[in-house]
Amino acid sequence: MDFKSLWHKYVPDWKLLLRKGLPYVLVAVFAAATAIAALGVQNNRHIYADINATKVELETHQQELNTILSQTKDLLDRLRAIESDTLLLMQQTESEKSEVADKIEELKNTFESIENKERQRWILPMQYKLCSSSYGYREHPVRGEANFHGGVDLAADRGTPIVASRSGTVKYAEYIENDAGYWVLIDHLDGFESAYMHMDKYIVTEGQFVVAGQLIGYCGASGVATGNHLHFEIRKNNQTVNPADYIDMY
Ligand SMILES: [Zn+2]
Repeated sequence: MDFKSLWHKYVPDWKLLLRKGLPYVLVAVFAAATAIAALGVQNNRHIYADINATKVELETHQQELNTILSQTKDLLDRLRAIESDTLLLMQQTESEKSEVADKIEELKNTFESIENKERQRWILPMQYKLCSSSYGYREHPVRGEANFHGGVDLAADRGTPIVASRSGTVKYAEYIENDAGYWVLIDHLDGFESAYMHMDKYIVTEGQFVVAGQLIGYCGASGVATGNHLHFEIRKNNQTVNPADYIDMY
């Protein structure tokens, strides 16, 4: 078998093949071209969609940024309002501080006036001729030695009425020889007591309540005394104080 016959046996007639196959080839080529073009368009569509999506995203971001910006502005406004409120409060606090200081001053004055009234509550216990001995250190009129005089000595005639200097309860009404003689101690129930010594006699009993100005006894020279007088004491928390600080007597 020669080459030509072999060729005819295994390779089809190319003209026939071309005639019959060309339309298919053309259709195939056209289809391929169409497919490639379609793929390109598709690809472009993807890109456009991506761009659009990015645009939408950017717009969304911008809106968010605008929202944040307006919120920030609101916050700033609020901060400014708080700042001015704070300033106002500080001014108010300052004025309240001075009001409180005024109130304290007022209370102090009230307290002082109450204290003054408290002092005014004491009554002179006896009309006297002279104050023969005042409160403090002195030479004892009988014993001669230096000692502390815990009261005032008010000289008056025997029998001159003695009254309670303040209201209170009679704690002692007794006789002590070589000392206070007939004497009365009144407890004023607020830490204050008053003592009345060397009486000619007392007319109250222990436990009796007496009011300020009420007669409690008479002037004399009982106990240790050089003459008729009233030894008058005011005691605050068991310590003698100067009666002249509570009663005008000199
Ligand atoms: Zn005295």
